[in-house]
Amino acid sequence: MKPLSYTQINIYQSCPLCYKLQYIDGLKPKDKWYFSFGTTLHLCAEYFFKVGVPPPPSLDELLQFYEQSWLSEGYESAEEEARYRDYGREILSKFWEIHHADFRVPVAVERRFYMDIEGVKLRGLMDRVDKLDSGGLSIVDYKTNQKLFTRDDLEANLQLTLYQLAAEQTWQLPVERLTLYHLRSNTPCSCAPRSKAQLEEARHLVLEVAENIAAQRFPAIENQYCPCDFAEHCPYYKQELVPELKETDILRGMAVDEAVEQYVALQSQIKELQLKFEDLRQMIISSCQAEGLNRVYGREHAITYKLVEKAGFSQDEVRALLESEGLWNRVLSLDQAKLKELITDETVARDIRHKLEALRRVISSSPRLWVRRLIEEE
Ligand code: SF4
Repeated sequence: MKPLSYTQINIYQSCPLCYKLQYIDGLKPKDKWYFSFGTTLHLCAEYFFKVGVPPPPSLDELLQFYEQSWLSEGYESAEEEARYRDYGREILSKFWEIHHADFRVPVAVERRFYMDIEGVKLRGLMDRVDKLDSGGLSIVDYKTNQKLFTRDDLEANLQLTLYQLAAEQTWQLPVERLTLYHLRSNTPCSCAPRSKAQLEEARHLVLEVAENIAAQRFPAIENQYCPCDFAEHCPYYKQELVPELKETDILRGMAVDEAVEQYVALQSQIKELQLKFEDLRQMIISSCQAEGLNRVYGREHAITYKLVEKAGFSQDEVRALLESEGLWNRVLSLDQAKLKELITDETVARDIRHKLEALRRVISSSPRLWVRRLIEEE
């Protein structure tokens, strides 16, 4: 099995089928402007920090690099592209202003790593690793997400957890800070490092995903990103997207859309009938109760009304009796079937069984109706 990346694990977790289509079947996702935009800004942050000795590149140099690195793929129009190009320039100018003032050469920039978790190979790329004054490491991952990250986002971020594992293994130093750097607002969103238990949990998760992939478990799981770029291969969407699937023999010549609409129409009729039925049932019960009747007659049918009582035991009473006799552990919790067994068990003292039987109470009651056809029986 090839080394897994965080992105692959993330996609597998969202939808195993989407993972398979992309990474095993080799289907290519469509170009997206936000991937192009994110990649360009990542390249620029790398360019800014990847210097052997200070100073970092000047603002002009950074912006020049930005223009050279601009990726045009995925934008809907020239206007949209121009808008984002200006936006990126703004973000980078602010980025330069913040970071050139207290510039320090990082421990690593765009550092590739390989890890082995109980035989499962993991690969990744850390955007930036800094050394803190305390001697520990700080991991920074740049993001071009629209929204700022919440504490929950930071705590749940598996990528940071895996990077902590990799950094501690690579440099044999403790990681003391994890950061998702929100590029659009130039805000570092940081949290404390993961605990041992959290790291262990992440290892398990990687092993679980690897095991599922090895066992070829690729169900389609609908999620917030559906439909993905491979929807025509997905059992949730392909019938809509692939026209030749619209009619099948199993439907006995009926078109799929017709079957769907008929089903929905019948379902709503059933619901309507159920409501009417329940209403009428309740009226007949109320009428029987008000008139003191146990049977009402139609022209061809009669309906018998009875209040059906369900006998059972009260847990507190039974427990009080059985505990004093040392028999509670035969029942443990109030299991009606086990209690019935106990009552018929000859090895249990007769008077206990009688006392137990005497504790039988009505524990619930529900009105029921039975319909009978009079004419046929006559
Ligand atoms: S469209 Fe289908 S294959 Fe794609 S992510 Fe959604 S459920 Fe998975």
